[in-house]
Amino acid sequence: MSILTVSEQSLRAKGVSAPTRDPRRSVPASWRDVTAGVGWFLVLFVVALWVAGGGLSAFGSLGESMTNLGRLTGLVASVLLLIQMFLIARIPLVEQAWGQDELMRVHRLVGFTSFNLMLAHIVLTIVGYNTGLGFIGTFLDQVLNAPGMLLALGGTVALIMIVVTSLRRVRTRLRYESWHLLHLYAYLGAGLALPHQLWTGADFLSSPAATVFWWGTYAASLAAVVTFRVVVPLVRSRRHRLVVSDVVAESPTVTSVVLTGRALDRLPVRAGQFFTWRFLDGAGWTRGHPYSLSAAPDGRRLRITAEAAGDGSSCLTGLRPGTGVLIEGPYGRLHAGVKTQRRTLLVGAGIGITPLRALLEDLPPGPDETVVIYRVGSRDDMILRDELLELAAAKGARLVAVVGHRNPERHSWLPVEAGALGDAEALARIVPDIAQRDVFICGAPRWMQIVAAAAREAGAPDEAIHQERFAW
Ligand SMILES: Cc1cc2nc3c(=O)[nH]c(=O)nc-3n(C[C@H](O)[C@H](O)[C@H](O)COP(=O)(O)OP(=O)(O)OC[C@H]3O[C@@H](n4cnc5c(N)ncnc54)[C@H](O)[C@@H]3O)c2cc1C
Repeated sequence: MSILTVSEQSLRAKGVSAPTRDPRRSVPASWRDVTAGVGWFLVLFVVALWVAGGGLSAFGSLGESMTNLGRLTGLVASVLLLIQMFLIARIPLVEQAWGQDELMRVHRLVGFTSFNLMLAHIVLTIVGYNTGLGFIGTFLDQVLNAPGMLLALGGTVALIMIVVTSLRRVRTRLRYESWHLLHLYAYLGAGLALPHQLWTGADFLSSPAATVFWWGTYAASLAAVVTFRVVVPLVRSRRHRLVVSDVVAESPTVTSVVLTGRALDRLPVRAGQFFTWRFLDGAGWTRGHPYSLSAAPDGRRLRITAEAAGDGSSCLTGLRPGTGVLIEGPYGRLHAGVKTQRRTLLVGAGIGITPLRALLEDLPPGPDETVVIYRVGSRDDMILRDELLELAAAKGARLVAVVGHRNPERHSWLPVEAGALGDAEALARIVPDIAQRDVFICGAPRWMQIVAAAAREAGAPDEAIHQERFAW
């Protein structure tokens, strides 16, 4: 293993001052509990409505009990579907409290739970109704004769398609764009389920409280999606009028794009965050791609640095100065505002160094206050190498490049050259005071998991570990 270190010695000589806490406001971690509490409240409120509507006393014959349970599962499935809408609406407080990675994990969990409950609702209701026509006969009878049921069937088919294409094995075979396009049918699924709840769902209209609750929650979820996914990005893009000002080839496969715009000092973005970018350079502009800022925003320019991974990222090299850009964001919790400790460890691999490079710029200076571990296959793979060295020197940070090939024998964040050195042991050797540092990690998802586990084992507290995956 080859290690390149910029030591703090040179910086002590420069008399760099002690770091202070970042004064800028960020969403407190407690908002995570508050928003989770709101989600649980919505679910419990629905169960309470079911109880108030006589749910507990409606268990009689097998058929009645099945129908009653079918009502409950249908109601909880519906409210979970609406919670899904809030989760993907990118409501700033929710997004900043949870971060994209965690939101995506919760979104997946809530989505699959809602789907399973919806299937249970369908089966329990059909078995409970038992019209004497058998399961298929009762199903067809309901679909064809009960109001709103044909639409609900359409919604169910849309949701089945989304769930099937979200299964890991299927998803990896689909292009991201195709998967994402199919995923938009979730809105259709939720919308088509509404009429059958209104026309046949006694629980929906059983009391003024139920009516206000359901209409209010549907309206609020729709308003959240439209506001934060459509209106705010359009207004922000229009206000700042970003255009490409420069395109720089960092290596044969990595390109930096510099952007300028109006009033960028008023764009509420922090170093380490990312936007979803849409470059208005012709066909394909509708497909947004998330890229992190690779330099701290200075109020005049923004910069991203991207590796050619497919069609979208490969097109960046061909962007012409003056090309307009639409942005969604900023998003992500990989910024100094989430820090819980004074000192910092930044651990990045490959292109994952980009947000950490920006973050380093934003962190307070001081001898060894920040340690940067940069994992690369070879020295030539070090993206933004000269900048990093200069920045580390200016900040008093220690830059440790861990160079070498992946170990084919074991899952490790270390290269094969590190031999039998343990993952946590290596981290603790490089950063003995890791337990007193915030640890920011960015790179390939599997590699990040290993680094996070090693950091925990080496003593870093859970709340001090912050991650941004470059894939959802
Ligand atoms: C939060 C975040 C920040 C990122 N920051 C950077 C960065 O600073 N520099 C960089 O080089 N790369 C970054 N990426 C990865 C980058 O977004 C993808 O490499 C790029 O979108 C690939 O698109 P493509 O058309 O070139 O390739 P494709 O062949 O379409 O996709 C290749 C892979 O990239 C992922 N991907 C594609 N489109 C998206 C999308 N819209 N949203 C999420 N994942 C997608 C998928 O996993 C897909 O399998 C980031 C990703 C995320 C999620």
